[in-house]
Amino acid sequence: MTPTEAKQKLIDAGKILEAEGHHDMTRGHISVRVPGKPELFYMKPHSIGFEEMTMDNIIVCNIEGEKVEGTAPRHSEVFIHSEIFRVRPDINSVIHSHPDHAVAVSTLGRPIRAWSQPSALFVDRVGWFTDTIDLIRRKDQGAGVAKALGPHNVCMMKSHGVALAGSSIEEAVITGIMLENACRIQLLIEAAGNPQKEFPPDDLKLLQDKITRPEQMVVNFEYLRRKVKRAG
Ligand SMILES: [Zn+2]
Repeated sequence: MTPTEAKQKLIDAGKILEAEGHHDMTRGHISVRVPGKPELFYMKPHSIGFEEMTMDNIIVCNIEGEKVEGTAPRHSEVFIHSEIFRVRPDINSVIHSHPDHAVAVSTLGRPIRAWSQPSALFVDRVGWFTDTIDLIRRKDQGAGVAKALGPHNVCMMKSHGVALAGSSIEEAVITGIMLENACRIQLLIEAAGNPQKEFPPDDLKLLQDKITRPEQMVVNFEYLRRKVKRAG
């Protein structure tokens, strides 16, 4: 992937996240490592919505969280990204957002239950950050989120939002959309009452293997890319 392709994918990912329930005015952010320079990452700037990224306003930050290229302002919560990139060489893209249903589940503090297909991605596979509801504006706070994330691709940040990590932009975005779906369905089930038994772990594992394949992430990301393009 060339740097231009990476930036274009970041721009399209922003449009997808805005369309799929991850927007909260200008408060979300997404990043991807610069191809061939893993200590640097492209990031959405501060003060704009997910869908407003362009080739010109995307900034470049380093692993210390410092802006090294670009004129647009940097998110103060850059440390969520830099500290995850620091400890997870397998991760190439990070998202922080405030999707309503996932925030509600994060506040309840309940585990994700095996009540839907998207939930299979998250049962026993999410970290929990409960230190603060405040913005993550310091390196040690970012390190706390990265520690809470652990080996997973999702960190529920209590009463605040989510940190999503992926080996690719596709994986981070689709994981975030499936998480919000799983949380919405879980809240509907809990609100209806009398939740039924969950599927057994073996069944769940079979489904996990199918829905976590990288090619599935790409297929679904490309579909959503076409969808936002059609919508203009
Ligand atoms: Zn936030």
